[in-house]
Amino acid sequence: MSRILVLYTGGTIGMDHTPEGLAPVPGLLPRLLQRFERPGMQFDVVEFEQLIDSSAITPRQWNQIIDALSASYARYDGFVVIHGTDTLAYTASVLAFALRGLAKPVVLTGAQLPLVHPRSDGWANLADAFEAACQADLTEVVIAFDRLLLRGCRARKLDAERFDGFNSPNAAPLAEFAISAHWHRQRWLRPDGEWRPLRLEENLKLAALMLTPGHGSTLAGQALRDGGLDGAILLSYGSGNAPADPALLDGVAAMRARGCPVLTLTQVVKGAVAVGAYAASQPLARAGAQPGGDLTPEAALAKLHVLLSAGLAPEALREALGRSWRGEMTV
Ligand code: ASP
Repeated sequence: MSRILVLYTGGTIGMDHTPEGLAPVPGLLPRLLQRFERPGMQFDVVEFEQLIDSSAITPRQWNQIIDALSASYARYDGFVVIHGTDTLAYTASVLAFALRGLAKPVVLTGAQLPLVHPRSDGWANLADAFEAACQADLTEVVIAFDRLLLRGCRARKLDAERFDGFNSPNAAPLAEFAISAHWHRQRWLRPDGEWRPLRLEENLKLAALMLTPGHGSTLAGQALRDGGLDGAILLSYGSGNAPADPALLDGVAAMRARGCPVLTLTQVVKGAVAVGAYAASQPLARAGAQPGGDLTPEAALAKLHVLLSAGLAPEALREALGRSWRGEMTV
């Protein structure tokens, strides 16, 4: 018998039409979930007091999810987190890093169309999420969506229109659901040490700054120098290239001098930062920006948030950022 806890946080999946447009309706989704009752699996549903459109998520709600998982961790074999798709990849990444020592499945899912819609994709997503949550040897945070099981800290929302809304551009799926479920167990992570979930610092100032031709690099440099940031990611071009704009390089150096991390990522969906592939990648690295490999922006922000919440000193932080702990980076 698998005991599963379902946390319902909001999102399209449990919405219905209201005079204002689609909005979450308390009580609706727990009622609809009764359809998944079956022998061999028993589940409880916790509906969050404030069901949100996930575009409104903040670190406070992430802590609510972390607290709910921590409080019930010993009593359940697996967890399903129902969430809006807009920020699903951010929440999955945060949980992947914050739930240190996780040894049970945590499966996030949602839908592009509400369950009350006759063509909703939510039913299949929920069915696959429950199936994954019953796999005792799945010991990581994953997303079940459109017949794929993806590593949470590798996944991105890539389509707001089609049912295949999520993928993990730099990592193969962990399972594929067809007539049979194909579990790619050789790709699954092993538990990492003892269970020690970490709550997030809620007031950190983190920014994702995208370089754009023209003034973009100067504006990014000003935000780094004067923005009072605790950490930042820079979305550079291609394999980590950027103009040698003095304002940008000064901003990176100022962050470095304050002991605040700056990670260089690529704004390209697939691929990695490779310092030295082009000469144009060197100035940023020399100024002190740390290459983030093929981290997604969502995973990079989550990793910064969790490591800064853990209070690591700058050198330990740099070392931890350069390592892949939950399969988030290709090394
Ligand atoms: N705006 C919705 C949300 O993220 C979109 C969805 O769930 O698909 O809550």
